[in-house]
Amino acid sequence: MAIRAVLFDLDDTLLWDERCVEEAFAATCKYAQDKTGVNAEQLEAFVRHAARELYASYETYPFTQNIGINPFEALWGRFAEGEHPEFRLLEQLAPMYRQSAWTQGLQAAGQPNDALGAELAERFMSERRSRSYVYDETYEVLRQLIAQYPLLLLTNGSPDLQQEKLNGERELLSYFDHIVISGDHPQGKPDPELFKHTMSLLGIEPHEGIMIGDKLTTDILGAQNVGMHHAWLNRKGVELSGNIHPEYTIASLREIEQIIDEINSKES
Ligand SMILES: [Mg+2]
Repeated sequence: MAIRAVLFDLDDTLLWDERCVEEAFAATCKYAQDKTGVNAEQLEAFVRHAARELYASYETYPFTQNIGINPFEALWGRFAEGEHPEFRLLEQLAPMYRQSAWTQGLQAAGQPNDALGAELAERFMSERRSRSYVYDETYEVLRQLIAQYPLLLLTNGSPDLQQEKLNGERELLSYFDHIVISGDHPQGKPDPELFKHTMSLLGIEPHEGIMIGDKLTTDILGAQNVGMHHAWLNRKGVELSGNIHPEYTIASLREIEQIIDEINSKES
């Protein structure tokens, strides 16, 4: 059977989330440096460390792991939506979490200042919110594919945060027949039930779909578990380690069409 639908991950596959986060950190830490003389790079490292540690200490941690919400998303997400009761907990925790991460970072960098910590927490949120990047080839490739296949977006995360990212890049919305956000479901990628749900939306069998994503433990493992074709997007040329072996590895979205042609020619 030939490929009948293409499934995409969002963050760091179509949307360049990592660059948004890096730039938001750099701008916020530069502001602190100008104001207090603290070393911006050191501050960023300390805040990232404090954020990871705090995030993992909360009772919401297993839930955020399941759904796929990372500590840096919680530095700017509001978590005002989503049916899971844990979203309400996150909504309550998030302001304190952000403030603590920045305050602890300042303290570790030798500038204890609670008021500045609170200010930086707010500033990071608006710096992150003001940015949206797609990759050079994102729209070119989607335009080619949409002429031939229905496209489905399968993203791990909080419903309102993922929607906000999409609203910042409205053209993306127009390419997808279906948008599935893990926070609206019991579990995130790689949960087989979530992949089965996408297949029922598309009306396809597993081997009639191909999943494209940058994360081995979610996008690739999830597709493998249900027997769906998949391509690991490895833009940075990371060496493969561990026991997840992707069917295809690509360095750019531009390689997708060729892979689909290859799968189709093998199976015809
Ligand atoms: Mg991703």
